[in-house]
Amino acid sequence: MRPTVVVVGAGFGGLRAVRALRRAPVEVVLVDRHNYHLFQPLLYQVATAGLEPEQIARPVRAILRGQKNADFRLVEVTGLDLAQRQLVTDAGPIPYDYLVLAVGGETNFFGLDAVRRHGFALKDLPDALGIRHHVLRSFEQAVLEPDADRRRALLTFVVVGGGPTGVEMAGALSELIRLVLARDYPRLNIKDVRILLLEAADRLLGGFPPRLSEAAARTLWRKMVGDPGPYADLGGGSGGGVSHRPTRPADGQTGPHHGRADAPGARPSGGVRDRGRGLSGARR
Ligand SMILES: Cc1cc2nc3c(=O)[nH]c(=O)nc-3n(C[C@H](O)[C@H](O)[C@H](O)COP(=O)(O)OP(=O)(O)OC[C@H]3O[C@@H](n4cnc5c(N)ncnc54)[C@H](O)[C@@H]3O)c2cc1C
Repeated sequence: MRPTVVVVGAGFGGLRAVRALRRAPVEVVLVDRHNYHLFQPLLYQVATAGLEPEQIARPVRAILRGQKNADFRLVEVTGLDLAQRQLVTDAGPIPYDYLVLAVGGETNFFGLDAVRRHGFALKDLPDALGIRHHVLRSFEQAVLEPDADRRRALLTFVVVGGGPTGVEMAGALSELIRLVLARDYPRLNIKDVRILLLEAADRLLGGFPPRLSEAAARTLWRKMVGDPGPYADLGGGSGGGVSHRPTRPADGQTGPHHGRADAPGARPSGGVRDRGRGLSGARR
């Protein structure tokens, strides 16, 4: 009998492993909690209504169709029984001879509890749809809100983390609001809308050359992403809140500015990034 290779995770890593085994003398079982492979780099487009969920999610079975030695199980893996060589899942154990764990990452809030409690992650389709619904609901609530301050608060959107995803998210949110929602909500004053992008480091896109950071900052400034106000607090009071102070672009231009995020009592954070994780609750 041919040995069984179980691959956990139908992301880029897991699919690559399955594909690499297509001519190997093994049976491959791919397992995932979703029945689709998700193209995460375009999640921000779903969050800002530029794409529909099905445009970035492809059924796993359709991907595996041409591979005779591969099968799929839609299960949540909850643990790993190394002694018995089996996965523990919500649908019972799955035995393996060889195991590939490709479970991806999870949102890293960098210890910012206020952001975890009040913010949205952007890691999966429900996250992206949650953001989209929140933006649209906020606009509807703003139409009904007679108080000007509360209306402006409803129309203030904060993106935490000036890495690639935060920059894309803030820019796309600006386009959604200024190119589409501004026309759909003629009774609202577009000047009441604020999109703030918070970054702990002294520049956006820290992993890229400085000239690209400057170019991104300039583009976002043209898209009205920034903060002309003096100080904003992401909530949580003194313990675990995130504060925002405006800073100027390197060339001293005036206008809305990217801020700096601090986390009192926590390590400085650039916001939301990914870090590797094991199977939560796995028995080892
Ligand atoms: C918003 C966003 C934007 C990004 N943009 C870019 C970009 O522009 N360029 C770039 O190179 N990278 C980008 N990335 C990173 C890239 O998407 C990841 O590096 C890549 O998806 C990692 O692949 P993976 O196979 O390791 O994990 P994933 O793609 O996360 O796949 C892991 C799979 O494991 C499954 N899984 C996890 N736990 C369990 C469990 N317990 N039981 C069952 N199934 C489980 C999940 O459902 C998932 O299908 C972005 C990521 C995000 C979130």
